[in-house]
Formats: sequence, structure tokens, C-alpha cells
Amino acid sequence: MSFFDSVVEQKVRCKVPGCGKSWILDPKEIVENWKHNNYNVPKRMCGSCSQAYQKLSIQKIQCSTKFCEELIRIPPFQQLVAEKKNRPIKKQNLFCAKCQTRLKNIEDKKIPCRIKACTKSWTWFASSQLKNGGMLLEAKPDFRLCGTCFKIFQTLTSQHRPCRVSTCNRTWELDRMTQLESQIKGKKSEPKRMCSFCNSQFRKMVPKKEKCQISGCNKTWEWSPYGQLEYEREKENNSSLLPPRRYCTSCFSLKKTLKPSSTSCIKNNCPQTNEYSIEDQLEDILEKNPISLRRKMCTTCEKFYNHLKDEEISCQQKGCDLTWLWKKEEQFRESFYQEGKLIRSEAPTHYCNRCDDFLHNRSDTHVQCQSCESLILWTSRQQLMTELNLWVPPRLCPSCLKKN
Ligand SMILES: [Zn+2]
Ligand SMILES: [Zn+2]
Ligand SMILES: [Zn+2]
Ligand SMILES: [Zn+2]
Ligand SMILES: [Zn+2]
Ligand SMILES: [Zn+2]
Ligand SMILES: [Zn+2]
Ligand SMILES: [Zn+2]
Repeated sequence: MSFFDSVVEQKVRCKVPGCGKSWILDPKEIVENWKHNNYNVPKRMCGSCSQAYQKLSIQKIQCSTKFCEELIRIPPFQQLVAEKKNRPIKKQNLFCAKCQTRLKNIEDKKIPCRIKACTKSWTWFASSQLKNGGMLLEAKPDFRLCGTCFKIFQTLTSQHRPCRVSTCNRTWELDRMTQLESQIKGKKSEPKRMCSFCNSQFRKMVPKKEKCQISGCNKTWEWSPYGQLEYEREKENNSSLLPPRRYCTSCFSLKKTLKPSSTSCIKNNCPQTNEYSIEDQLEDILEKNPISLRRKMCTTCEKFYNHLKDEEISCQQKGCDLTWLWKKEEQFRESFYQEGKLIRSEAPTHYCNRCDDFLHNRSDTHVQCQSCESLILWTSRQQLMTELNLWVPPRLCPSCLKKN
């Protein structure tokens, strides 16, 4: 057995970068090489690479520069390496030789961040300028975020914010870009917006002319769409809500010259007063009402009045058992103040209706003396007394009476 017979086969790694396989170098070949003083290990593909290689052909890709017609040739080996390294050839970023020379003369540019309040910038690479702008570099830079802003942007999620109409319970979506903008500008700059429902209603609304709240005034005030919206939203929760009442501009300025005042109680000598509101004052000015129209019972008098009851009082006529009605209004009118307190007076003396009618409808008359035929006065009161069986009609005149 010669020395060469002891040489064994050798496992050699595939020459394709990224491929982990190997191929077998035959001992005979090793020996043959050694005989020619060649001790280098040859570089070859493994079986599977070699098979894949056979199937590939040269790829022609257009240069990435806009309008450049040049084709770039990608040999099969490069394609194979790309596949093995799992790093696909970036066909959208391949430049022909001429363009690569051009690239060297173009500078990367700093473009301001798309967030206006941000002072940072992003880099617009020469390759992008060429690729998008062609050889004349006609491209305009994109609106892009700087690196810092982009990092913040990625941490953000869209948020819901309450509708700016204070009476609305709905929300609107605050998108990420707007959040980023306000974060860079400072928190206070976060926008206030209406929800989409309010917004769509708001567009259809127009200012409305509403009547002045003062009943004697014919002027109007303007109800803004926003105000209407606030009212509409609040009404959703409270269907009985009334529309707002407001002063017209002239009443409003007149109002500023007025002060809340008071009116005296309707009861004479009552020290209490009632509030005379600015609104009532305005109304009276416009309608030229005298202040006396505003006089009414004060609360103390009203309480007193409400406790009073109509009362039956005996007729002042002796012998009459009928009564007359002492009305509460009458009792109130006759009541008086004593030591700051309202006191009901004693019931007045009065005839009952029957007696009163009698006295009014009967007139004094005369009867003839049965003895001297002179006339004797017969008063209506005497007639009433007779009616009540307290008196008898006279038969004799006073002088005849004396004679008897
Ligand atoms: Zn291989
Ligand atoms: Zn080119
Ligand atoms: Zn930025
Ligand atoms: Zn809303
Ligand atoms: Zn008015
Ligand atoms: Zn009073
Ligand atoms: Zn009577
Ligand atoms: Zn007589």
C-alpha cells in the first residue's frame, strides 16, 4: 500500500455563502492535485446548490431611477446567495452604473419633521431623491415624521374625547397624529371638537331670532347654532326642558341700569314689602304700567289671610235670631297692626240681610190716632220691631196717651 492509498475523502463546505451544507472531495482528486503541487482545497457548490443553480438564469431588472431605461443584470450565483441568505434582492433599490455615479454627487437632505411644532428633521437619502425624482431630481420630499416623533407615534392609540358641546354625552375620536401634534406643542393644545352627530346637526343649523323674554318687548335676540345644539342635547335627557329665555340687546342694556327693588304690601300700613324683580321693572317700563299694579299681599299678610274664615255673626237687631256673613276679605281689611303683629278686629255690628232689607225698603210712615185723628210717626225701625213681635202699632198719639 502506497502513501497515497492512505488518503481519505474530505468533507468540504459549500462555497455558497449562507449555505451550511458540504460536498465530498474524492481522495483520488486530492492525490492528483498533490502530484501537481496543488494543496488548495477547491471551492464548489453542494449538491442542492448546484441543482438550484442549474435552474437559474440571468435576471434583468430595470434601474430604480425614475425614467432610467438601463437594465441591471443579476447573475444566477448572486440570486442563489440571496436565496440562501434569505435576503431577497431589493429590486426597487438597484441602480445602474451611471446612476451609481450620479448618486455620489447627490447629497442626503435634512427635511423638517411633518409635525410643525417639532424642530427635528428626517434624512431624505440621495437614493430616494434619485429614485423618485429621476435624473432631474424633480421629486418633492414626503411629509414624514422625524425619528423621535415616529417612535412616540408608534406608542399612541386613537382615543375617545368628550364632545365639546357640554350637554352632549357622545365622544369623538382623537387620532394618533393629532395626539402627537398636541404632545409636541404641549398638552393644552389638544383640540376640542364636536362628536360627529353634533357636527352634522351643527352644519344644518342657522342662527334663530327668538323673542325677548320681557313680555312687553317685541325685539329679538339671536340664538346661536351652538346654543341651540346645547339645548337639543340637554333635551335628550330632559324632554320637558324649555328653550332658554333671554333679553334682547336693548333690554339687556336697560337691565344693567336697574336694581332689584321692592313694592309695598297691598295692606295699608303693613311694613312688609315684596320683591320687585328687574324683569318686572323692565316689563313695567316697556308697557308703561304704574308700579301700583305690582302691589300684592306680602307673605305675612297672605298667611294671615289664609287662616281667616267667613264667619256667621248675630244680627245687631235685638230679637232677631238671624245672622250675617262676615267675609274673610272684610276681616282682613279691618284687621290692624299692633306691636308689629296683625290683629283681627272685633266683629262689627250689623243687621242681618232680612233686617237690612226691611230697613231699607220700608219707609217711615204715619198712623192715625184713634182718638184725635192726628198722625203719629211710624218709623221703619218700629215697623221692624213690630214684625219681630217686640212692639205693637200705636193706637193713640202721645197727647191722647197722657190724657188717658
Ligand atoms: Zn450549497
Ligand atoms: Zn440608471
Ligand atoms: Zn418630529
Ligand atoms: Zn355631541
Ligand atoms: Zn327686549
Ligand atoms: Zn302685608
Ligand atoms: Zn236681623
Ligand atoms: Zn190723639
